[in-house]
Amino acid sequence: MAPTHEMSNGVPPPRKKRIGVMTSGGDSQGMNGVVRSVVRMSIHMGCEPYAIYEGYDGLVQGGDLIKQMKWDDVRGFLSRGGTLIGTKRCMEFYERPGRLVAAKNMILKGIDALIICGGDGSLTGADKFRSEWPSLLQELVEKGDLTQEAVEPYKHLNICGLVGSIDNDMSGTDATIGCFSSLERICEMVDAVFDTAASHKRGFVIEVMGRHCGWLALMASIATGADYVFIPEKPPAPGWEDEMCQIVTSHREWGKRRTIIIISEGAQDTELEKITADQVVKVLTDRLKLDTRKTVLGHIQRGGLPSYYDRWLSTLQGVEAVNAILDSTPDKPTPVITIRENKIERSNLEECVKLTKSVATAIKEKNFEKAMHLRDVEFKEYFNSYKLTTSTEDPRMKLPKDKQMRIAIIHVGAPAGGMNPATRAAVAYCLSRGHTPIAIHNGFPGLQRHHADKPLGSVRNVSWLDVDPWVNEGGSELGTNRGLPADDIATTAHCFELYKFDALFLIGGFEAFTAASQIRKHRDSYPALRIPLMVLPATVSNNVPGTEYSLGSDTCLNTLIGFCDAIRQSASASRRRVFVIETQGGKSGYLATMAGLAIGALAVYIPEEGINVHMLARDIEFLRENFKNDRGASRAGKIILRNEQASETYTTQVVADMIKEEARGRFESKAAVPGHYQQGGKPSPMDRIRALRMSIKCMQFLEDNFAGKSKDEIMATEDSAVVIGIQGSQVLFTPIGGESGLEAKETDWKARRPLNEFWRPLKSTVDILSGRPKDTDCCTECGKVLSGDIPQPLPDVLAATKSSFGHPLTAVYSKD
Ligand code: ADP
Repeated sequence: MAPTHEMSNGVPPPRKKRIGVMTSGGDSQGMNGVVRSVVRMSIHMGCEPYAIYEGYDGLVQGGDLIKQMKWDDVRGFLSRGGTLIGTKRCMEFYERPGRLVAAKNMILKGIDALIICGGDGSLTGADKFRSEWPSLLQELVEKGDLTQEAVEPYKHLNICGLVGSIDNDMSGTDATIGCFSSLERICEMVDAVFDTAASHKRGFVIEVMGRHCGWLALMASIATGADYVFIPEKPPAPGWEDEMCQIVTSHREWGKRRTIIIISEGAQDTELEKITADQVVKVLTDRLKLDTRKTVLGHIQRGGLPSYYDRWLSTLQGVEAVNAILDSTPDKPTPVITIRENKIERSNLEECVKLTKSVATAIKEKNFEKAMHLRDVEFKEYFNSYKLTTSTEDPRMKLPKDKQMRIAIIHVGAPAGGMNPATRAAVAYCLSRGHTPIAIHNGFPGLQRHHADKPLGSVRNVSWLDVDPWVNEGGSELGTNRGLPADDIATTAHCFELYKFDALFLIGGFEAFTAASQIRKHRDSYPALRIPLMVLPATVSNNVPGTEYSLGSDTCLNTLIGFCDAIRQSASASRRRVFVIETQGGKSGYLATMAGLAIGALAVYIPEEGINVHMLARDIEFLRENFKNDRGASRAGKIILRNEQASETYTTQVVADMIKEEARGRFESKAAVPGHYQQGGKPSPMDRIRALRMSIKCMQFLEDNFAGKSKDEIMATEDSAVVIGIQGSQVLFTPIGGESGLEAKETDWKARRPLNEFWRPLKSTVDILSGRPKDTDCCTECGKVLSGDIPQPLPDVLAATKSSFGHPLTAVYSKD
């Protein structure tokens, strides 16, 4: 056992760095993931983690509310909602005397770094605490509470913030931990209300959380296709009743059977007059004679299990927070961990807090343009895109005739969540600008079967009424197919000519990419193919070159972790069990690895690494050790994820059987294959909202670069065949052809995946957090590779472990 350093005065410097972790402010889904990853990563890095229970109150009260955490203390945390270490309002911390006691308690416990997960209030408190720290120490010494010697090692307070909030109200980050789970809850509810509303031709006004921030309301409106939204940052002018009624009436005239209005709890008009849900109900009832009901979602929005994204985000941000703490020096500004698109970054805590506060100030000053701008660029984009799908036709939006294009839309490959909302958004954009959206049904085989002599109705102009209900539909309403244009390129070209396509929008996975590549390569022989080609990646496997995210992958991962949670729980009533679960993904280990990260899998087998007998032996030893140390504390099953193509020999069943055999009755092992269930039902809110944003970006790109252009001009640029993708912190269009294009530089054609898979480094994080020994861990003393019976965490437990090496292990190094 580590010696305790707790003393009432004159505390010696701690042996190891002690990192405190706390959740504060309103709870949000994913906070437990933060605690788990901070605890385990701290131990992995040779530090001692401490949980501070009940937020700042724990820091002020001290004593038992500050507790050292061991590796196993956070077992099962990832899949739990709320916060298991508690949160509480703490009035004392607002005042200096409270913060003084907090500082003393920290030093008494030997804690020299603090990771705080909370909203802007909590992070403001953290920032204040940090800036006051030197003077707090001075005061403690002056008052005689602590000696100069005792405070000496704590001169620099290391703080790192993580944004945990369901509102997504922090500037400087695209998403806060919890906001997507909350959005998911809201969308589930709104989807449900839709059905009953449509049945009775009713109107519903749904109030969602967000006092100063309309993110939840706006995203829920996008994801569910609500008719009108009220958010604090973009308030309507007084007299909004007319505009709202006009929009609702026109939607009813189009044939909509129900009306849904979503309103933030902080809604107001431009004169800062509050707009309430009751007011909106009254307007719809009195003016439009709609049978209208109000639904206030309330605390349901905070509840439930964390979604895949929040588990992923909280885990990786927790890891990054520990790294930031270890990297910190007195001259570096205090960091807050943020995310931009797909990239986890460190930002300046003070600046982000300031920026967040300036949004509230801008709203108070009625400077709404500034408020929208400060919120972030993406937010404004989303708002404009949403408007496009709800407003009545505006002739001012239309392009001149010579710039209007005939844009064909096709789904290629397996269905993926988000294909339908993406199509709906593209159609909305086309119609608003005067382009003609043309649907191709059943992929390229559909097109090839359909030509002038034999029109089968596979090529059709689409209207808004056709696609509007697709906002939350899973699968592919157009019909999708794996067939490729090169299967019959002549007929494909013939159809392009026949229907006078000016551009082709392909939504799909690796097949869509391949199809665009084939068409591009045949352009020399077939002039009809000399049109711009745009690929929007949509595949559960997320294996399209040029992007780190594909539509449908979030839906799939949500479904997969739901499956894993359920199956893991099923073991709790029976014996100790290991489940070997087979994931989809083709030759890409993305799904298995990310799901592994989000559920805390014990091991993940992927095609990129293969499976060998040494690996299996080590993991079986690790399992034995794990169950032995468990002492019945956790009866939930353990999970190994195996990608469907990880190995030809070691199939899912074989792996499960080997484990069972080797367990010698000490535990049970079962194989499970979720198969097509992984494609999910309705697309996740993230897939729906990203479908809208990315699809509209695609249409704008086509329009900006190719509207009114000749075939020669189109052929002159590599941008005439591109993939839209999220790459790190940006959304980019990458050419498919050309010397540095995706075909030549970034595609592993044989394995049907990108050459450099961005997520590969994350594989080791999954192993670190599950405590799985590395294949390459060696004893520093004798260099022997460690066998699987050495329990992690390294190097903490190793110090005490008598090994078969003939000497106690003290440390390990890694061969790679
Ligand atoms: P959130 O973090 O979700 O915005 P709160 O605003 O309630 O939630 O803040 C949580 C806790 O953080 C408060 O109870 C208080 O202890 C501390 N806190 C908030 N704002 C400040 C501040 N300006 N100064 C000091 N402490 C603060």
